[in-house]
Amino acid sequence: MLDPFGRRVSYLRVSVTDRCDLRCVYCMAEDMTFLPKAEVLSLEELDRLCGTFIDLGVEKIRLTGGEPLVRRGVMTLVRNLGARLGPGGLKELTLTTNGTQLAKHAEGLYAAGVRRINVSIDTLDPQKFNAITRWGKLEQVLDGVFAAKAAGLAVKINAVALKGVNEDEYDAMLAWCGEHGCDLTLIETMPMGEINEDRTDQYLPLSLVRERLAKRWTLTETDYVTGGPARYMTVGETGQRLGLITPMTHNFCESCNRVRLTCTGTLYMCLGQDDAADLRRPLRDAAVDDAGLRDAVLEAIGRKPKGHDFIIDRRNRPAVARHMSVTGG
Ligand code: SAM
Ligand code: SF4
Repeated sequence: MLDPFGRRVSYLRVSVTDRCDLRCVYCMAEDMTFLPKAEVLSLEELDRLCGTFIDLGVEKIRLTGGEPLVRRGVMTLVRNLGARLGPGGLKELTLTTNGTQLAKHAEGLYAAGVRRINVSIDTLDPQKFNAITRWGKLEQVLDGVFAAKAAGLAVKINAVALKGVNEDEYDAMLAWCGEHGCDLTLIETMPMGEINEDRTDQYLPLSLVRERLAKRWTLTETDYVTGGPARYMTVGETGQRLGLITPMTHNFCESCNRVRLTCTGTLYMCLGQDDAADLRRPLRDAAVDDAGLRDAVLEAIGRKPKGHDFIIDRRNRPAVARHMSVTGG
């Protein structure tokens, strides 16, 4: 699948649910209204749509959300997609999770063919963790990380860089990741969806963070790529990697290879733009066969925009109205 700018689309991110058991302050408002069940695709429908993308050349699928592991029966989808790993099919099946349910599912994920996962942990301070997630328990998430490592999964920790909240912790987090054999990726906050706070207060440019970290750690640029938007460095002292995702300070759209499917079957061709394609209608239309569904996907890819134009708006309006949990981070 080639988009109008000649970029090959080979990576599909699937938000399997908009629901979550946490309410991270930068991601959701406390009183989020979630989608009615009827609007949400069944696991069979999600599986069929993923299959269509794989047939069209998608090689990597990341399940995300909301929290993917709170969707009932999600492991059935994981197993079905895992069965499509191999020559002519998927090269990688992975997921991004908040880790609360990971201890339960780590072995099942590995058995299904998942080899790497991302776990979001913004702080290693239990009280701060509780405050950022509004009610999460750090210990539960760390147990999940240890279970994942024990099951054989490579774990990358994702942390959103939040000014005045966790900016004094990146040294400690790099050290912790070194000790436990995890890579760490820092992410700039993106202006997505109404939250209860002011984003201009939260925004911390990672160029600054990198300068500060370089004072203590030997950071060497690498050409390591995972198919995602992070740029990686190796950390000399630990041997692990540090990734930076900088949608705000550095626009990475020129190498974008991905599209995002929501749990209602809406395909967003760009995280930072509103244009979308409704794939639920053709999916549920008995008159549309597999070839018709493929045509609907190809038509959407033909509209993939050149890039996003995120700015942290001083009037505190989000650049896109939908929350990250809808499109899937
Ligand atoms: N619930 C899972 C989790 O937290 O990993 C998966 C979904 S979550 C939306 C995916 C990632 O997006 C998380 O690492 C989260 O920190 C990040 N995220 C959410 N809202 C964001 C925002 N406004 N800006 C930057 N990253 C955000
Ligand atoms: Fe839930 Fe993930 Fe959003 Fe936090 S970042 S509220 S864990 S979806």
